[in-house]
Amino acid sequence: MKARLAFLFFAICFLLFLIVISKSRKDEEVKINEEVHHISDIEFQSKDSITLLRRKTGKIEELNLNYYMLCVVASEMPFKFDFEALKAQAVVARTYLYNKIEKNLEDVADVCDDYSHCQAFIDLNDLERIWKEEKKYSDEEIMIGEEKIKKAILDTDGEIITYDGKIINALFHSSSYMKTEDARAIWNHEDVPYLRSVDSVENPYDNSESECIISFIKLKNTLIDKGYFNELNMEDIQNIKINSYTDSGRVNNIKIAGSLIDATDLRQLFGLKSTCFTISIEGDEIIFHVKGYGHGVGMSQVGADTLAKQGKSYKDIIQHYYTGVDITKIN
Ligand SMILES: [Zn+2]
Repeated sequence: MKARLAFLFFAICFLLFLIVISKSRKDEEVKINEEVHHISDIEFQSKDSITLLRRKTGKIEELNLNYYMLCVVASEMPFKFDFEALKAQAVVARTYLYNKIEKNLEDVADVCDDYSHCQAFIDLNDLERIWKEEKKYSDEEIMIGEEKIKKAILDTDGEIITYDGKIINALFHSSSYMKTEDARAIWNHEDVPYLRSVDSVENPYDNSESECIISFIKLKNTLIDKGYFNELNMEDIQNIKINSYTDSGRVNNIKIAGSLIDATDLRQLFGLKSTCFTISIEGDEIIFHVKGYGHGVGMSQVGADTLAKQGKSYKDIIQHYYTGVDITKIN
């Protein structure tokens, strides 16, 4: 009888203990939410809206400006990046948008959701799914990340980048190896005084170096298909060489069978991550050893994060990557 009573007593004590623990956990969760989640939807709303063309469906949507900005910044830069880098990306994204609007570069809307034409735009619901399922972030990490981006957008509200009083074409890319690229070096681009090559010493990150392996057959067929050659023999392919470099150290063009092919064309044809590469040959394959990611012009995102971690502000970062610019409030 005594033993049974003692057991009952301990069982009740244990139950009470569990209840107290779970309540204090809940209190803790609420406290975390209150601390972090302080930007309300109303506070975050902009008075302006934009129109977005969905490339896949052809539909045009009207979106609140800040919701558009949130989705773009979150699609273009990992929220784990330093806060000042996210602020720099917010100003760049806003500048990019207003430049498109001012120059009327999108026919039927202000901007589209295709990253290769405008800026990457993924809906917040889809981003949250990607963060949770693919990146394995916890709900709390996601909440803090979103809050960080919202704050970056509000803290830089209305700020855009100008050169000589005019809004700039704020090109950016994922990462550069040592130096960014001068706009003149790619796309036969005109001289843009604020898109010059600058130093970009970057912290190492996952996949900062990549390899692209192309078989001789694939190289031959692709170059013939695209009209570069009528015929190409294996000896010509084996003798593929880098012909010249741009001032930033990226490959300018390669030489094959006496003809020159632009490295930017080669990058597109074979999906190389950048034009900063060396070539080696193994058996009947060509291996491109690539450093960095993207066209290399304008702000490097990994470089922005690196500078931010060294204590630089978002204004320092923008003025480092875009030569001679000002940061001003849009009217
Ligand atoms: Zn577009």
